[in-house]
Amino acid sequence: MDFETRAIHEGQEPDPATGAVTVPIYQTSTYAQEAVGDHKGYEYSRVANPTRTALQRCLASLEGADHGVAFASGLAAATTLVHLLSPGERIVAVNDVYGGIYRMFSQVYEPKGYEFEWVPAADMSANLAEHLDERTRLVWLETPTNPLLNVVDIRAAAEAAHAAGALVVVDNTFATPYLQRPLELGADVVLHSTTKYLGGHSDVIGGFLATNDPTVAERLFFLQKSLGGIPGPFDAWLVLRGVKTLAVRMRRHCENARAVAEFLDAHPRVERVLYPGLASHPGHDVAARQMADFGGMVCFLAESEEEAVGLVARTKIWKLAESLGGVESLIEHPARMTHASTADAPFATPRNLVRLSVGLESPDDLVADLEAALVRSAAAV
Ligand SMILES: *Cc1c(COP(=O)(O)O)cnc(C)c1O
Repeated sequence: MDFETRAIHEGQEPDPATGAVTVPIYQTSTYAQEAVGDHKGYEYSRVANPTRTALQRCLASLEGADHGVAFASGLAAATTLVHLLSPGERIVAVNDVYGGIYRMFSQVYEPKGYEFEWVPAADMSANLAEHLDERTRLVWLETPTNPLLNVVDIRAAAEAAHAAGALVVVDNTFATPYLQRPLELGADVVLHSTTKYLGGHSDVIGGFLATNDPTVAERLFFLQKSLGGIPGPFDAWLVLRGVKTLAVRMRRHCENARAVAEFLDAHPRVERVLYPGLASHPGHDVAARQMADFGGMVCFLAESEEEAVGLVARTKIWKLAESLGGVESLIEHPARMTHASTADAPFATPRNLVRLSVGLESPDDLVADLEAALVRSAAAV
């Protein structure tokens, strides 16, 4: 079945007890047993819950995975994944990862003796092998990256990692499985913050891991119940509901982002636009090869940090807020907001960077609102 059909039906047969077409929110912690050990597959909701099971089956199918494991947040998924490793082992990660991942690795795991090496996206694609050794267990990719929208060649990185015996995880939050399926390109594990496009309505925090490797999957299910970072049934249900419209939403996110990127690219007060869909973007060719379209995130460099900070407060439709991937358009200043925790890292985000999460409003309204904010800044100078 095609993607759109699976997004609506996979794991979501009508409820066997009532015929309810929508998967119920099984708001229960425990399940009655007929006799000791005689139950319907559910004993305790940290271990398994039917609403979560439906979500896990649906998202796994969309990523082309045999196994899916849901979590309370993207970071709960990430920390559970890092528990595949032990202190003394190495993770090689793309250097402009999501700020919260950088904070976790550098301030939680590094002090415990885990080792990290940070590699620019271009090197990840071209000469990853030089950064790997026998202690490297995991290669951590994000593509496109947050916030710089750098692109990593997943197939090339996976070949280098596998030759060195390392697993490859791809944080697919920005692209979503509608635009990019890393497992088909050789990755071993896909990670999501379902808070973003998969939920899609800025009303839930969640995370997800998918894999085709049965040994990794078994360990992840064990860690899910043993560490306990699970989503509640209502949160699982919200993501499941969001995913039903993922395909139509992503098509419109991409269309709107293209219109906004082209407008900004032609604007005299914009220094540079970072959008993989522009032919001038260094990752354009790889993105065109491994993604179905270029996504809904657009970044640009304003003339100065003051200009960036002023601009993000002047838009009206674009709300000044962290997070991304919802139906509403958001604007933010990464250096002082989402990525403040990377401020002293060697790859700190540019101080004049503005990040846009392009929503589903009318593209004409979105462009007009940006235009007005840019013009007001010109008038103020
Ligand atoms: C938001 C985000 C995360 C973290 O997810 P939470 O749900 O906020 O814990 C990880 N990676 C990327 C790319 C993100 O955008």
